[in-house]
Amino acid sequence: MLTHFIGGRPVAEGKGFPVHDPVTGAVIRQVHEADPEVVDRAVRAARQAARDWAAMPVGERAGWMRRLAEGIEARFDDLVAAELADTGKPLDQTRTLDIPRGIANFRAFAEIAAQRPDDAFHLSGVLSYTVRRPHGVVAVIVPWNLPFLLMTWKLAPALVAGNTVVVKPSENTPGSAAVFAEICADAGLPAGVVNIIYGYGSAGQLLVEHPGVDAVTFTGSTRTGTAIMHAVADRVKPVSFELGGKNAGVVFEDCDLDRAVEGSVKSVFTNGGQVCLCTERLYVQRPIFEEFCARLAARAHEVDPQPMISAEHREKVLSYYALARSEGAKVLAGGGVPAFGDHRDSGYYVEPTVVTGLSEWSRFNREEIFGPVCHVASFDSEAEAIDLANAGDYGLAATLWTSNLDRAHRVGQRLEAGLVWVNTWYLRDLRTPFGGLRLSGIGREGGIQSLDFYSEPTTITIKLEQPDV
Ligand code: NAD
Repeated sequence: MLTHFIGGRPVAEGKGFPVHDPVTGAVIRQVHEADPEVVDRAVRAARQAARDWAAMPVGERAGWMRRLAEGIEARFDDLVAAELADTGKPLDQTRTLDIPRGIANFRAFAEIAAQRPDDAFHLSGVLSYTVRRPHGVVAVIVPWNLPFLLMTWKLAPALVAGNTVVVKPSENTPGSAAVFAEICADAGLPAGVVNIIYGYGSAGQLLVEHPGVDAVTFTGSTRTGTAIMHAVADRVKPVSFELGGKNAGVVFEDCDLDRAVEGSVKSVFTNGGQVCLCTERLYVQRPIFEEFCARLAARAHEVDPQPMISAEHREKVLSYYALARSEGAKVLAGGGVPAFGDHRDSGYYVEPTVVTGLSEWSRFNREEIFGPVCHVASFDSEAEAIDLANAGDYGLAATLWTSNLDRAHRVGQRLEAGLVWVNTWYLRDLRTPFGGLRLSGIGREGGIQSLDFYSEPTTITIKLEQPDV
């Protein structure tokens, strides 16, 4: 049974809960569930380690980040296996994206933190400068769609900024976090700097409410973000939220059509659509609308279906397929459950799906589905495309397909999203701000923005007496 990792040791407490293989539906592991005592123990362990870790020079902490990156490299195959077992992702994606990004997260934030200068401001006879101190104990709560990538994306800057952490991975995907706990122990990371506990949302709730937690970083659904905000409001804890999306792709008639179709296949169907950045609304300029739809639908039939993370999530996605029909959509591809005729038939698969014919006010076009599905609509003018893309409650990401440079800048700057890609999707520079507006989140992480969230500035102002001359 998977055990918690607290104060540098495995802790086998709390009743067990099962994790299922999305490919077959079979139970693959049992995991201890954190109860209030376990949560309290983890927060106390983190508090106990906080002072020494914060006092360590940043260069030394950066050295620990590099050692953890080496530890991940050494356990690369174990991490891949754990991530595959929990998620049913394609092997190639796990090997080339999920685990390598974990290594990159530790290396990148080690460099950024070690190089960061403090600010200094000068007035005549007055010097002000700013030092940054860590919050203390940070709760890190992450979802199941990119378990290792997202956990390390938050862990690395939180740690290098001088915080200790208590991590709660998703109940669906604890495997790679458990390997990471062993990596921390094997590297000799000081006890209590990283603590990992398992459980459902109730364990996450206990963690964020704990008075010993100073700040919360969360990636997950907007609904959970709202619950966390309520839970921490009385203590005014700083929060960083990376939440849901309902991302638009805008395809102009002047685009390279091959590239736009293939790029959209990627942006809609990668990871079975279970990436917060995936496109669920496509807007295509009228002269190329019919051809684009036909080509996208043909490609949807060729895409290998990928399992949804759980039986519940599959039901949710299928309920949106049914909703599309009841709202009057025309289904261009998919819309059901694939039949493989093998062990995958008991897994959590849905068909890659393309629909059209709904208004931007339909529920289907406004709510995040988080599956391999998109709606395609046509537009005439650039202004109309911008309005359509900006419609709705979310503002995470948008993608433009055009070969007109002026248009790319013009439209890109008017899209109300935290991230805009032009003629590409999912390309990331870890130094850039990442996050969304409206229901898509609060704050930005990435580069200096991460270090800013994981620390508090103190401004020191000194009056410099002028000698009489
Ligand atoms: P979720 O909100 O259900 O769960 C996320 C985590 O929060 C899990 O660890 C869960 O156990 C925990 N949790 C649930 N209720 C809680 C509570 N009341 N208090 C504290 N913790 C609680 O999300 P999910 O279904 O695991 O992930 C999918 C969602 O994540 C999608 O909405 C997706 O858009 C979003 N997401 C966003 C980004 C981003 O960067 N913006 C990235 C990936 C995923």
